[in-house]
Amino acid sequence: MADAFDVIVIGGGPAGYPTAIRAAQNGLSVACIDEWKNHDGAAAFGGTCLNAGCIPSKALLESTELYHRLREEFAVHGIRASGVELDLPAMQSRRAGIVKKMTDGIAALFKAGGVTPLQGHGKLLPGKRVEFTAHDGSRRELTAKHVVLASGSAPIELKAAPFDGRRIIDSWEALELGSVPKRLGIIGAGVIGLELGSVWRRLGSEVIVLEALADFLATVDRQLAREALRQLTRQGLDIRLGAKVTGAKATDGAVEVSYTDLKGEQSVTVDTLIVAVGRRPYTRDLLAPGTGVKLDERGFIEVDDHCRTGAEGVWAVGDCVRGPMLAHKGKEEGIMVADLIAGRFGEVNYRAIPSVIYTAPEIATVGATEEQVKASGRAYKVGLFPFLASGRARAMEATQGFVKLIAAQDDDEILGVHIIGPLAGELIAEAVLALEYSASSEDLQRTMHAHPTLSEAVHEAALAADKRSIDSINKR
Ligand code: FAD
Ligand code: AMP
Repeated sequence: MADAFDVIVIGGGPAGYPTAIRAAQNGLSVACIDEWKNHDGAAAFGGTCLNAGCIPSKALLESTELYHRLREEFAVHGIRASGVELDLPAMQSRRAGIVKKMTDGIAALFKAGGVTPLQGHGKLLPGKRVEFTAHDGSRRELTAKHVVLASGSAPIELKAAPFDGRRIIDSWEALELGSVPKRLGIIGAGVIGLELGSVWRRLGSEVIVLEALADFLATVDRQLAREALRQLTRQGLDIRLGAKVTGAKATDGAVEVSYTDLKGEQSVTVDTLIVAVGRRPYTRDLLAPGTGVKLDERGFIEVDDHCRTGAEGVWAVGDCVRGPMLAHKGKEEGIMVADLIAGRFGEVNYRAIPSVIYTAPEIATVGATEEQVKASGRAYKVGLFPFLASGRARAMEATQGFVKLIAAQDDDEILGVHIIGPLAGELIAEAVLALEYSASSEDLQRTMHAHPTLSEAVHEAALAADKRSIDSINKR
């Protein structure tokens, strides 16, 4: 096998594998090195997203939502179900099967696209050389005209509650639990904490979420965050804000978690504790001395707007560089880099990155929050449309939430769209496109939307920005 490539990608997650595929599409010779091994020891492409993140979490969210709805919500449709039972091993094996199909799919895409897959560890040496150590321990030196670093991220460990893999666990272990904890503690009310909390709550756990910040979902539009807190609390998630965890002691049967809040020292005892306090860039043994690649003070690989590291021919994309830790952000960065390497146009619009929380209802946002627009000093208008007024949402028995659209007062440009409601993660795509094309609210107002669909709520929110909603009372 040749040891010289046009492009070597280190990392085969949702940032690395699209980089490799696009580079190959651009006629370049490409290798993708990935060291991921699953809990059963099997090597797999796809990184955190496919093996331990986006995909397994969505598989479980789907299954548990069906279970919950069958038990709690079908009666209203006139469907009576009795004898409903949870088969957790079957649910978990479905999740594992989906992961396997998706990760095998990447290997198939590499084969079809002419990408050389290399499973093992990659380390960048000076002069765009890469040391590759295969899982069997054999070592080779490769060279490339361009190296793309896509080494991803890892869960942050709390000193106060170190992982023990049994009772104090990370998000990956939390997706693979073999039994439903009676009392589940979660540190961190971020995206991951809330999604995992929803999964296990729906299966019957008593869930206590401890969040250090006083504000719920602090980066999200306040109106949306308030509604989300109301809905999630109604589902039985015990979300304690302003609760900073200071210690966790695991005994044989339980974990005693201590935290401080406004009232002082508190403690709570749970069976299992998930630590979901965010992720850190992962660059272990990635860079030999003298490569010229720099890390910032938080450990991210330093890059410019086009993901150049500053070392000639070395690029970095995805969770290991600045910006939101989201699979689609890494994918777009990878595609941009692969196109720039091939001498084509490449750009990422960092102002139009959608973000979705897959709770029920889903929470999806793109662009500026009302608070951000207000702080910018720009005059703005807001259109709000409640799903209560949507025929389709009523037919679905999914009337919680709303679409909120913020547009500039002067030129009507859409500045942000924030949705909490059914399939918000799908609905947000239209808003992303609108921001991408610098659309005005009038552009959306004049775009026909099929009836009856949830997407009409986005249309109506645009109309409401000018107090011209047809299907709801125009007030905020
Ligand atoms: P990773 O996916 O972490 O992949 C990096 C890969 O590089 C890994 O396979 C790693 O083993 C490999 N690697 C690292 N160093 C080396 C080396 N030196 N040599 C060889 N290989 C190496 N994001 C979303 O957008 N939507 C979601 O719904 C979502 N849900 C999530 C749910 C959970 C529970 C978690 C934990 C995360 C979720 N995320 C979600 C975040 C998403 O998973 C990450 O943003 C995404 O995986 C980052 O992609 P990446 O390619 O940069 O890194
Ligand atoms: P995210 O970064 O979206 O994954 O969210 C992680 C959440 O964990 C943030 O909201 C943090 O405020 C929260 N967090 C971090 N450290 C602690 C701690 N010691 N106790 C409670 N919450 C924490």
